[in-house]
Amino acid sequence: QLASFRIKELKDVLTRLGLPKQGKKQVLMDKVLAVLVPSEWQQHPPDGNRSSIAAQVIDDIYRKLRGSGAVELASGHRNFSGAVSVSAGRSDEPDETENRCPCGSSLDTGTMIQCDNQACKVWQHLNCVVIPENAAEGVEPDVPSQFYCEICRINYGDPFCVTLSQPLPAAKFYAPAALQMEGASPLHSLEKTFILSKADRENLHKPNHDLQVWCLLLNDKVPFRMHWPDCAELRVNGVVVRVTTRAAKQLLGANGRDDGPGITACTREGTNRISLSACDARPFCMGVRIIRRLSVEQVMSLIPSAARGESFEEALARVRRCIDGGASDAGDDDDSDLEVVADSVTMNLSCPMSGSRIHIAGRFKPCAHMGGFDLKTFVELNQRARKWQCPVCMKNYSLDQLIIDPFFNRITHAMKDYGEDIKEVELKADGSWRPKLEGETVSRQPWRSPDGTPVLANGFHKATVKQEEGVSQGRPPLKIGMKRAHDGSWAV
Ligand SMILES: [Zn+2]
Ligand SMILES: [Zn+2]
Ligand SMILES: [Zn+2]
Repeated sequence: QLASFRIKELKDVLTRLGLPKQGKKQVLMDKVLAVLVPSEWQQHPPDGNRSSIAAQVIDDIYRKLRGSGAVELASGHRNFSGAVSVSAGRSDEPDETENRCPCGSSLDTGTMIQCDNQACKVWQHLNCVVIPENAAEGVEPDVPSQFYCEICRINYGDPFCVTLSQPLPAAKFYAPAALQMEGASPLHSLEKTFILSKADRENLHKPNHDLQVWCLLLNDKVPFRMHWPDCAELRVNGVVVRVTTRAAKQLLGANGRDDGPGITACTREGTNRISLSACDARPFCMGVRIIRRLSVEQVMSLIPSAARGESFEEALARVRRCIDGGASDAGDDDDSDLEVVADSVTMNLSCPMSGSRIHIAGRFKPCAHMGGFDLKTFVELNQRARKWQCPVCMKNYSLDQLIIDPFFNRITHAMKDYGEDIKEVELKADGSWRPKLEGETVSRQPWRSPDGTPVLANGFHKATVKQEEGVSQGRPPLKIGMKRAHDGSWAV
């Protein structure tokens, strides 16, 4: 795989390994090989972990690339090796993988990149869809660690809208090179036609169905959202359709979300005309799709059950990490709901969005912190907000990373025995907890296991609690170790 890499891919590998990427091709190759296959003559013992990470990075970059670009430059036999690499790529892939690119061509030309959505896996031209911010200066695109095609991005951006069909597939809205100048916002426009069949029109008359124009910024820092260009003016069959309420020069911030207007009313069976004009040099992508809108209940049903989203052991390990780690190094994970008191912490079970006590404990799987939110409140609010942003750490996610916290969900379930006004619990690193009743500075309730059954009388020593819990479950207690890396982050 490494032999087929150009300077570009070698630099991508070094960047992702955090190594300097200066030098000629052979120098870069040697640097990568030094990590991958550490020489026995080197003074330091080989770092097996590092070389396996390097192997993964190389595999990842290779997997995302296909076609003549990467191979022909390396070997020098342009036509021959190009043809071989294309056919080899084809036979390795399942049949359903296809080329589909906003440029309109489905040919294997240049380097191809594949959508990371396992249900999609479409291939696109790297140069068409991965556009660096300073593309005008001739900067080549970096291979992103994760890549999603425009349709998957639009689908992830609003799970309340399901794409049924695309009368107008993605079309690029990008100012021609002649208009691209440093700091300029050239006025340019795009005109397209699309056909609605009789069946399409019948579909659009069904309840919850709509014809929607969508638009996204190809190199958006928030990948899963709709995003219209500055001063966008959209016309459908001559009718002006308002796309945003933003004023001119008021760009969409990291927390903003645009919407896709419904255009069923101004379209007809047969040929329809659509035009977009804007003063914006950035690369956008626009299309028309037939959507079906889902209800809150339907979107809730897409979220995995508590047992399937994350294992209870993983959730408990995070609680241990946050409580033990929080006591020794409170600055690392700033969790405002967390108050360190001896070997237990006080945890507030209020939903940060509704203020009421959490009923179904929701969280985003990649978040390292403990705090979560009420799942139903969160989904309901996102029907309009379309943000899918963790209200605790403010990171942007999408619905497919939303899960039920199997640990806190047991506690919030057990809390049904207490009044809605009881929102605080005391929590120990071993996962035992007790509610803090009104007026209590320290809870006098018995400690409970996560599912709510009382485990031990008050006042047991922490070590004894761990031992008892291990015995009752018939297996040794979980051991967790922590190590601080050179960059100051903690690894468990
Ligand atoms: Zn293309
Ligand atoms: Zn895709
Ligand atoms: Zn978070």
